[in-house]
Amino acid sequence: MTKLNQSQFEQSGLVPVAVLEKVVSKLLAHNERDALRMGLVELIQDWHKPLKIKLFFSGQRGFMTHRGQSLADITIYDVLDQPSMPVNVIKLSDMTDVYNAVQSHQIQTYFQANSDLVDLYVPLLQGDIVGAVLVIDGISFAPTNKVIWEQMLAAYNYLNQMLYAAEIDPLTGLMNRLAFERLLNQAANGTEKLSTSDEATYFVLADIDFFKKINDTFGHLYGDEVLILLARMMSDSFRSIDWLFRYGGEEFAFVLHDVSYADAFQALERFRLKIESSSFPQVEQVTVSIGFSQMVNYEPVSSLIDRADNALYFAKNNGRNQVQNYENLIEQGLLVKTEQESGNIELF
Ligand code: GH3
Ligand code: MG
Ligand code: MG
Repeated sequence: MTKLNQSQFEQSGLVPVAVLEKVVSKLLAHNERDALRMGLVELIQDWHKPLKIKLFFSGQRGFMTHRGQSLADITIYDVLDQPSMPVNVIKLSDMTDVYNAVQSHQIQTYFQANSDLVDLYVPLLQGDIVGAVLVIDGISFAPTNKVIWEQMLAAYNYLNQMLYAAEIDPLTGLMNRLAFERLLNQAANGTEKLSTSDEATYFVLADIDFFKKINDTFGHLYGDEVLILLARMMSDSFRSIDWLFRYGGEEFAFVLHDVSYADAFQALERFRLKIESSSFPQVEQVTVSIGFSQMVNYEPVSSLIDRADNALYFAKNNGRNQVQNYENLIEQGLLVKTEQESGNIELF
């Protein structure tokens, strides 16, 4: 085998394995998806010195395309430019190149006139949803450089999808307990918007009624089918900005963002009615009991779960197939605050 000299090497488009190892190991240092994404941005900035780099998020909370949300409704902003409060929110449909990346799920490459520089529009996926679009203006298309950024993007994609898959429940496709822990802790630490007007964030626990009987009567497979169909109804019933989790076996948790009490209650009641009136294969009727409570910033997640759980417990003990709100039950004197909730906990 003949050794390549420097110029032959550069023309060959080959990259030393050591370089790629370094690149990938930098990405591997991040085991959280937000950090991994910023790791990719830094890598591209450091290695390729592009003219400009932008990272577009959806202006709404959540993803670019999610649960049937129309592309026409989506607004976007550059998080690298406006990390906390997005001020300049743009309509996705007004930015054709970003729009094309979101719609096609493919990298869009545009050659700059009279140079070997290109502009890249890179959709960053989570599952089959576009989570963000990375825009790299003026990056070298020379073979050695191209191989490196292609490998960076491939390594990022692989790691990101692995981290994403680890947070998805394989049966229902909803977020799992791992995602629950991460997002709820994040929300409780004050990243959640404090209620300004009458809008707040609500935490919901939903539990299938007599599910054990469904399993015992029809078998586990039909039980699983109920879980799958129910998860689908959840996705159809709540907005794209809401978080839906499979919390345990036949228990689900939702976080409904920026919503009034009346609208939250109505959405939950509509969901409950939809299940009650649906016909499930073999099983026919299924019902759920639902408890929910308003989220308070900087409180332990366990307190929030306890309140929703108490409301759910009340629903279970009072006929099932109903929606109950913790604060409302307290106000009506139907529930009393536990010692922990009223702040009388004794320390030892
Ligand atoms: P309640 O109305 O009080 O909630 O009664 P329940 O029967 O729904 O509650 P219980 O907690 O007694 O039973 C829950 C059942 O859920 C027991 C378990 O076998 C079943 N289950 C948990 N995970 C799965 C699953 O992944 N698939 C199926 N088919 N069943 C599951
Ligand atoms: Mg149950
Ligand atoms: Mg249960």
